[in-house]
Amino acid sequence: MGDVIQIENLAVFAFHGVYPEETKLGQKFLLSLTLHTDTRKAGRSDDLKDSIHYGELASFASQYTAAHPCKLIEAAAEQLAEAILLRYPKLRGVTLELKKPWAPVGLPLETVSVKISRFRHQVYLAMGSNLGDRKGYLDGAVRALDATEGCHVAAVSSYIETAPYGGVEQGDFLNACAELETLLTPEELLEQINRIEKEAYRERTIHWGPRTLDLDILFYDDLILETDRLIIPHTELHKRTFVLEPLKELAPNKRHPILKKTVLEMLQECEQTAM
Ligand code: ADP
Ligand code: MG
Repeated sequence: MGDVIQIENLAVFAFHGVYPEETKLGQKFLLSLTLHTDTRKAGRSDDLKDSIHYGELASFASQYTAAHPCKLIEAAAEQLAEAILLRYPKLRGVTLELKKPWAPVGLPLETVSVKISRFRHQVYLAMGSNLGDRKGYLDGAVRALDATEGCHVAAVSSYIETAPYGGVEQGDFLNACAELETLLTPEELLEQINRIEKEAYRERTIHWGPRTLDLDILFYDDLILETDRLIIPHTELHKRTFVLEPLKELAPNKRHPILKKTVLEMLQECEQTAM
């Protein structure tokens, strides 16, 4: 926990900027990286295989920066952080500072820089379908999630058959859960799952009515979030056996950040109230 590898002021030549001279002639930038990664294993084995090769990473960062010119250093930093996280799965996150030492603003400043921290996030999703080719819709959702930029499906539960919920007369559901690794923010992830639902021709007609595909965000790390569009953890998850049952297969000991109960404990409580 908390280990980092640091690279300080790596000089990279790049063409970032809004002025024509900057984009044509290029200039030197200084890049500092804090690599958030557990160094315990490499610390004990003394084997490079167990760590991140910082020389290779520095060379990748340098080439990437030169090859991807941006107008803003904000954009350059954002793209580079994402590229590094996609390339190095052992990294939990990266803090990246990009300095422009001689920013052409005609003032006696030393450097201008942006510094950002970006992390990989662990998300649990609930999936459900009760219309048409239900298994096909769930399989399709898993494929679509995995194909989404910055998303990787790490695990999928078994698909379970459940009776409909909410009092509307309709067919049985097929429900499942998925574990997702993502670089997206909660809002960006919601946009992507809404897109995937739309692509499955889901029609929003009856509330709690039949749907080809429903995707809900259950947990996003241990984040607690409440906005007009998004509530995390999902408000109903602790009451729904059809969510907790498949979720138990993936994360029985995952603890609800508000209720402070594990998935297993919430499931046992649901089963008790149902009796
Ligand atoms: P439900 O999933 O409750 O059956 P919908 O799938 O139609 O209903 O969701 C309606 C809205 O719920 C979505 O457009 C979304 O903005 C909002 N929402 C709030 N919290 C979440 C969450 N954790 N995951 C997914 N959608 C959420
Ligand atoms: Mg939903």
